[in-house]
Amino acid sequence: HLAGLEPGFDLPALPGMSLSEVQTPALILDLDALARNLRRMSTFVATHGMKLRVHGKMHRSVDVYRLQEQIGGASGICCQKVSEAEVFARAGVKDILISNEVRDPRMIDRLAQLPRFGGRVAVCVDAPGAVADLAQAVARHGYPLDVLVEYDSGAGRCGVQGADAAVALAQAITAAEGLRYAGLQSYQGSVQHLTEFNSRRAAAAEAILRTAEVIDALKAAGLPPETVTGAGTGSYTFETSSGIYTELQCGSYAFMDADYGRVLDIEGRRFDEGLWENALFVLTQVISTAKPGQAVTDAGLKSLTMESGLPLVFGRPGLTCTGVSDEHSQIRDPEGVLRIGERLRLVPGHCDPTCNLHDWYVGLRGDQVEVLWPVSARGRSY
Ligand code: PLP
Ligand code: MN
Repeated sequence: HLAGLEPGFDLPALPGMSLSEVQTPALILDLDALARNLRRMSTFVATHGMKLRVHGKMHRSVDVYRLQEQIGGASGICCQKVSEAEVFARAGVKDILISNEVRDPRMIDRLAQLPRFGGRVAVCVDAPGAVADLAQAVARHGYPLDVLVEYDSGAGRCGVQGADAAVALAQAITAAEGLRYAGLQSYQGSVQHLTEFNSRRAAAAEAILRTAEVIDALKAAGLPPETVTGAGTGSYTFETSSGIYTELQCGSYAFMDADYGRVLDIEGRRFDEGLWENALFVLTQVISTAKPGQAVTDAGLKSLTMESGLPLVFGRPGLTCTGVSDEHSQIRDPEGVLRIGERLRLVPGHCDPTCNLHDWYVGLRGDQVEVLWPVSARGRSY
């Protein structure tokens, strides 16, 4: 699929090139570090009997998902958007949950057609109107859909606000022709990046308690949820030990980023010191050293996002990124060690939106390019 494409114009590199030949800025993956992250999570879910439904919004890559299936213990994917899910469905992914609300009529219509690619498709709802709209679309297209009630366990985003509303929705799904009541989603997003372990555990415990109350109400109404899904990289150990979740939706653990790197584990160690490895980098090179004590590189906001803070300069303790503008990063270099053309690996603040800025992943084995993988669902935010 790379025939006729020219490095530096159509794509950042070709397989077989050395790292020094990769055009910058480029989104690069350390394939060995990625494999170790995937195996670690695979061991965890196997040990604890959890289903791992990795979050595809993080990488938006069919190839990365395939690897998560092969060596990472994944047996399903989450998507946030219908158009994103369509990319994975077309590629043959057989178990897709849209872990989000879909309310636009055109998108509901597309969603109802997704099972024609041969997989199981599920979606979340938080309002009776959504159940009615989904049922109508299913009647038009004839493919049954799985539907989960989404509960807001504290993130304050989507989700019904209480147990009574959850029960009423579960009843509405059960009563609707063509919809199968498949369980409960309770994802507490605002817990994930709490740095201190004890604060994170306490916030997760509160969300878990509230979720347990909803599950009890559903059971009392004769509607026990077969699946209880949620959790992210910052909290999945808590949902797992709660005993009430069946499924984890972790995304960022696979690549890591600077923001998750700062999060602390039970022993007070940073996530990026031993637990999860940085596998994702933006490769950049120095284009100016005109100002003493500073180097400027060629990766800016068009190559990495900044909503979670500045990138880290990987493996170079003397160097600090101090600013990022459209096409440049400023690197504080007090000793003046950096030279024009020197390459640096930046760890982006936030992996998901950074990946969505690029067309390609450059997969490296050591310092050699092994694969180019398209960011298959890039821009699919509809
Ligand atoms: N599930 C849902 C619904 C999410 O919105 C997210 C991320 O925001 C995740 C799971 C994955 O979280 P993480 O990347 O922190 O592992
Ligand atoms: Mn994220």
